[in-house]
Amino acid sequence: MTVTSPDIVISEELIRKFDRQGPRYTSYPTADRFNAGFTLDSYHQYLEQRANRTENPPLSIYVHLPFCESLCYFCACNKIITKDHSRAAEYLRYLEKEMALVAARIGKDRRAVQLHLGGGTPTFLSPAEMRQLMDMVRGHFNFSDDAELGVEIDPRTVSEDTLAMLAGLGFNRTSFGVQDFDPDVQAAVNRIQPLEMVERAVTASRKANFLSVNADLIYGLPKQTLASFDRTLDSVIRLSPDRIALYNYAHLPSRFKAQRQIIELDLPSAEARLQIFLRSMQRLLDAGYVYIGLDHFSKPEDELNQARLNRSLHRNFQGYTTRAECDLIGFGVSAIGKVGDSYSQSVRTIKAYYQHLDAGELPLEKGYSLTQDDVMRRRIIMELMCSSPVDFGAINAAYGIDFRSYFAGELELLKPCEAAGLIGIDADGIKVTPTGRLFVRAVGMVFDKHLAQPTTAAYSKLI
Ligand code: SF4
Repeated sequence: MTVTSPDIVISEELIRKFDRQGPRYTSYPTADRFNAGFTLDSYHQYLEQRANRTENPPLSIYVHLPFCESLCYFCACNKIITKDHSRAAEYLRYLEKEMALVAARIGKDRRAVQLHLGGGTPTFLSPAEMRQLMDMVRGHFNFSDDAELGVEIDPRTVSEDTLAMLAGLGFNRTSFGVQDFDPDVQAAVNRIQPLEMVERAVTASRKANFLSVNADLIYGLPKQTLASFDRTLDSVIRLSPDRIALYNYAHLPSRFKAQRQIIELDLPSAEARLQIFLRSMQRLLDAGYVYIGLDHFSKPEDELNQARLNRSLHRNFQGYTTRAECDLIGFGVSAIGKVGDSYSQSVRTIKAYYQHLDAGELPLEKGYSLTQDDVMRRRIIMELMCSSPVDFGAINAAYGIDFRSYFAGELELLKPCEAAGLIGIDADGIKVTPTGRLFVRAVGMVFDKHLAQPTTAAYSKLI
């Protein structure tokens, strides 16, 4: 099968040729390169630089809420399975401590343009706890009137009232974990959420006036077939979310314990996955969705596509975003931040998280200080990932290099991508073609200097 739209032609052959394992570049360097050489002192310095500067980028805030009531077998997130809702109250007390410690370091400039609640299941919190969290966040950070406030929703945990409450608290974007509507697939991954349940939640979001509704789908799950996923797509297209993320399930049971519950014989073959992906992509394009890149689609009028068109699309740990370069501060277990030219990540276990905060210190586990070479490569890789042109002149001016000689080796390595029509290279720069948007990881990897070093990470394949 070949995916065709007016400007995209993606054949099976093209996918087989460029389907290599690689990072998804929500950061550069990727999180597997963060290390303990980045100490608490290093992190403090980056935070305090904000306090000492007059011109700072605005903030994006991420809060990780790790609790879930039951285990989805495909899960690769850092979560805690519990039905004991009293644990949320304790966690909130520690989030408050962490926010106070960060706020004290970064000084008065706490303008924020984005908030994302992820998990785990953010809606594990009761309405009163959600209000408490938002009071806490707003107490420490000053959100602009047009700030993007997003929350990940597990449809099994929300009522119409919860969604109205979230809208009342200022949330304007929801993201629903849909995955697949087929009952056999849902049973095989231990996540039962009938279509009617999701439909009620999506309808309630619209009624509550959320600006954008996203649906996450996953292909490659056990018991999935081309026909079953087609039926899921019928329902999803009818629900008409503003954005759709079509993720590839990466089965890594040695790394993610939950996935050991999946019966491997039930997984679709590599060939079936490829067909499911191609068919899904074609159907979403035919239904009028625009392909943003990697796993993401949106309606043409959605802000994400508008940002792609006016070249203001960015990429952060939540994927594609419309907000321009921000400093990102992550709160909660395993949360990642990006402040200045640094990345930081908090400890992964709740026990260690509480211990650090009880000792009055930020729960840092590891991080990374970027070199000038990293900063330049990050800019290039992120521009490629967002299908923005890489402008040689702009990079030469910003970093005092001659792109063509500094990256002569990389330009040589890009020739197969150029020959396959994934990118165009001319005297001014590199442009990703519409077809190339699926393969931006392979293009970006050419500029990733760290790939030459060994890693413990298990990168996923494209399909
Ligand atoms: S997929 Fe989401 S809801 Fe399911 S266990 Fe993982 S974090 Fe929890």
